[in-house]
Amino acid sequence: MDSRRAPASRHDAGQPAGTPADAPTGTSAGPPRAARANAVLSVAVLGLSLAAVAAVVPQHLAAGRDEAIRKGPGVTAVRRLSEWFPGIRGTSGDTDVYVLDSGRPGATALVLGGTHGNEPAGYLTAIVLVENAAAAEGSVIVIPHANRSSMTHTDYQEASPRLLEFQGASGRRTFRFGSRATNPTDQWPDPDIYVHASSGQQLSGAETRNLNRAYPGRPDGTFTERIAFAITSLVRAERVDLVIDLHEASPEYPVVNAIVAHERAMKVASGAVLNLEFDDITIGLEPSPKNLRGLSHRELGDATGALALLCETSNVSQGRLRGATGARQVIEGTDDKYLRAARLGRLAVPFDERGWPLKQRVGRHAASVGAILASYTSANPGRPVSLRGLPSYADLMARGLEPFL
Ligand SMILES: [Zn+2]
Repeated sequence: MDSRRAPASRHDAGQPAGTPADAPTGTSAGPPRAARANAVLSVAVLGLSLAAVAAVVPQHLAAGRDEAIRKGPGVTAVRRLSEWFPGIRGTSGDTDVYVLDSGRPGATALVLGGTHGNEPAGYLTAIVLVENAAAAEGSVIVIPHANRSSMTHTDYQEASPRLLEFQGASGRRTFRFGSRATNPTDQWPDPDIYVHASSGQQLSGAETRNLNRAYPGRPDGTFTERIAFAITSLVRAERVDLVIDLHEASPEYPVVNAIVAHERAMKVASGAVLNLEFDDITIGLEPSPKNLRGLSHRELGDATGALALLCETSNVSQGRLRGATGARQVIEGTDDKYLRAARLGRLAVPFDERGWPLKQRVGRHAASVGAILASYTSANPGRPVSLRGLPSYADLMARGLEPFL
């Protein structure tokens, strides 16, 4: 928007330039009555404005507050991401880091949820993990809201729901539905072109607030690059062996219901895909493209010693073909428009009346985390890492998410 146009458009509202606002109109009874009417109208407008502000301010403040994540029996420490990079301390990029340490020797895995705040299966799988699981060998570090800023707003003109609500086993639970990108109140304005710092790759300006285009990050970079740098610093300092970044994608996106793996992680990923197939969970395997920069599976694999993988499930609420948008659509994963697109052969995943419910997407992510850890352990028997207490795909499909929240 060009703010220099504002005076001209005010001019368009009626009164010619140079006409005094209080010029006499020639009638004697008119002006006082009109003035009274104007005063009443002004008070009414002011009252309505204050009521609107009063209604919106608590919602706005609530958007910045963290939802409660309940520490499960396996959490041995809760730390802050800024411990690995103090440059994000006190910002909405700082976030809780849950450590599940078995106390037994082995490998260290890092599970990232909420890289994108509009992909709820990613952060809800991380939350279910924190609240239910414990490490049986090695240790597992979990960051449910990798880009916490992206949880504090929703995408403009997408009609996204603000909250997802569940009657969980531990009581009523509400979880934010966020945005793909960092909140503009934390990083603004966007450049016309986003240049990825270490490669020079050019992308659309809006991608400058996308955490999964910002790796490995920079200590003196943008807000989003500093979050990426904090996560990269954690991976290095904790000598993380495996990074599993949990995402979702729209059903028409070519890489969906898939594990994307850095070339060093291919062996572990292919073992996991085979294990999942034995449990009737079909997941594709995609190599991390070498020329697509800034993504976790590319940059953490290149810049650290970790094997880097990313998992995708199918989320209709993110797609461009979707119909009426809301919390029910996110949770049930059904959509008539996607059913039609499937009949026309336009989707990258099978799609029928059952859709892809959230419990199934969390089930696929949870099963993928388990299968990736098992595959790593069988390839590196001297450095095991495993979880117990993580609900299985069959558990989640049969009972839903609620018993695990
Ligand atoms: Zn994503």
